[in-house]
Amino acid sequence: MYEHDVIVVGAGGAGLRAAIAANEAGADTAIVSKLHPVRSHTGAAEGGINAALQEGDDWELHAYDTMKGSDYLGDAPAVETLAQDAREDTMRLEHWGMPFSREEDGRVSQRPFGGLSYPRTTYAGAETGHHLLHTMYEQVVKRGIQVYDEWYVMNLATSDEDDPNDRECHGVVAYDVQSGQIEGFKANNGVVLATGGPGQAFDHTTNAVSCTGDGHAMAYRAGAPLEDMEFIQFHPTSLPSTGVLISEGVRGEGGILFNNEGERFMFEYGYANNSGELASRDVVARAELTEVDEGRGVDDEYVHLDMRHLGEERILDRLENILHLAEDFEGVDGLVEPMPVKPGQHYAMGGIETDENGQTCINGLYAAGECACVSVHGGNRLGGNALPELIVFGKRAGRHAAGEDLGDPEIRTGYGDDVEDETETDLPVQPGAAGLERSGGVAADGGVAADAEGALERAVERERDRVDRLMNKDSGVQHAEIRSKLQQAMTDYVNVFRTEAGVKKALKIIRECREEYQDVYVDDPSTTFNTDLQQTYETRNLIDVAETIALGALVRNEFRGAHWRQENQIRDDENWLKHTLVSWDDGEPSIFYRPVILEGEEKTYEPKERSY
Ligand SMILES: Cc1cc2nc3c(=O)[nH]c(=O)nc-3n(C[C@H](O)[C@H](O)[C@H](O)COP(=O)(O)OP(=O)(O)OC[C@H]3O[C@@H](n4cnc5c(N)ncnc54)[C@H](O)[C@@H]3O)c2cc1C
Repeated sequence: MYEHDVIVVGAGGAGLRAAIAANEAGADTAIVSKLHPVRSHTGAAEGGINAALQEGDDWELHAYDTMKGSDYLGDAPAVETLAQDAREDTMRLEHWGMPFSREEDGRVSQRPFGGLSYPRTTYAGAETGHHLLHTMYEQVVKRGIQVYDEWYVMNLATSDEDDPNDRECHGVVAYDVQSGQIEGFKANNGVVLATGGPGQAFDHTTNAVSCTGDGHAMAYRAGAPLEDMEFIQFHPTSLPSTGVLISEGVRGEGGILFNNEGERFMFEYGYANNSGELASRDVVARAELTEVDEGRGVDDEYVHLDMRHLGEERILDRLENILHLAEDFEGVDGLVEPMPVKPGQHYAMGGIETDENGQTCINGLYAAGECACVSVHGGNRLGGNALPELIVFGKRAGRHAAGEDLGDPEIRTGYGDDVEDETETDLPVQPGAAGLERSGGVAADGGVAADAEGALERAVERERDRVDRLMNKDSGVQHAEIRSKLQQAMTDYVNVFRTEAGVKKALKIIRECREEYQDVYVDDPSTTFNTDLQQTYETRNLIDVAETIALGALVRNEFRGAHWRQENQIRDDENWLKHTLVSWDDGEPSIFYRPVILEGEEKTYEPKERSY
């Protein structure tokens, strides 16, 4: 067994920042990650980090844009904390040596991004995430923070009191990918989940194969609710054949979208008469698909993104990486021809419910980064707002887990007297029914753990047994079959345009996937680098997460942000200014709602019509 004060699971932007903060607060801190830190998916971030740094801009404008972008589903205390702290935290990166792009006079450059009222996106070429990871990893090494890389975290070790709010997280169980050893990691103070997004629940995604929602699923099984999972961002400019992202930086620099008739459709058809290509992502993604549906798409599938008019010098200076991506993954030379693009799953606005200090409702369990929902993005994330979230809330979670007092949070978590229960929707499936093996979460299995060691030992035994079962089974279904069926269903039915019938179909298929998973087996017998085993675990997580996305999409019968419903194509503030929470209790998912907090420090963000 390994033991530290704070265990951070994940070494992307959020995990590295949390670990640095916990270490600075005096805690013996360790990072456990299935990937080496600089291979984390944050490295794929291209466009930049929003922070109100320039004269004329201020954090209040950043907060306002974020709230409007969220379609008034962001919680004001979190949104304002993001906008305020992003300034100092971005400058701290600069002081740590982050090579931000600069103007002639030496000031850090900032570019326009979708939905921003000011050019506020700070960047390092088109490789912002890559530099962010390297800059922070350097700080981790400098501070001597222990990194267990290529350790796959399989589950949490929590106690299992009836009420999740009374439960305690004592550590994690992890599998050493290099040796096959399964061990417990005891956390004396807290565990911070920073495991990134669940993009692999979809077939066409900009996310890496490592984005499998592991943290989401582990927290959910332990009793922490997942919040606003129906809000999935589909990025308007992914390459059609692979899903690889073409950064919003291209449109930020002046790139233009055309349909098959050469029309600049964002203006031509009135999708966004003021901002055009730089409207918020949900607006542009719907516009593109409408063009395709109405017969104005190229090859009935995509539209064109043209940056040729920017000129070779500017493209090479600011967007060189984009040229390589278009050439390598689509065989297109962006200097001489337009690039084909279509919407692809990109980001999960929802996640593990936390407060401003990163705490979940389970004592000692924190979450930060894309796996968390604090919530700053609400119904739609503005481009460039995820990276500041990593550094602002990663830092806060790390500090709090290390024992620093950050004041009482305004945002509440877990089931409490401020929530409203779901009463109306006729769910087509009860995912926990029929005696299916659900999770293996310690919390779900009964028997109260007496102490931390007991909880951890029991959790380790459970995972060793599970691996034995998976490896000793001679035949059955392979995880890849189930995974691709799940991904296809999510892409077909829980995409940009959603219908009640479609989402119900997806839920049925997810249910079938869960049933098939009962017969899953691991064909590869090796104990070293057994990706078959790891991906079998990940597929189980994807099933859990996909189900919460589809359940949220079914109950939210309105159109808000990235969530469009055919049956009710209006934003319904009277009934839906509330967060959707799905929690795993007593063998079934239960759905409840918590009101949005629109009251900020000094003003209330009154919902307005959202146009760009
Ligand atoms: C292509 C692309 C471009 C983007 N560009 C921008 C941008 O320009 N600006 C912006 O603001 N946002 C951008 N985003 C969004 C943003 O990059 C991500 O939301 C963010 O980087 C996620 O960071 P993270 O630290 O939460 O997770 P990640 O960087 O994905 O890190 C997750 C970590 O968790 C570890 N992990 C996961 N599961 C386990 C497990 N079971 N056991 C152990 N370790 C585990 C992984 O090894 C990894 O280290 C972009 C996203 C994509 C996909």
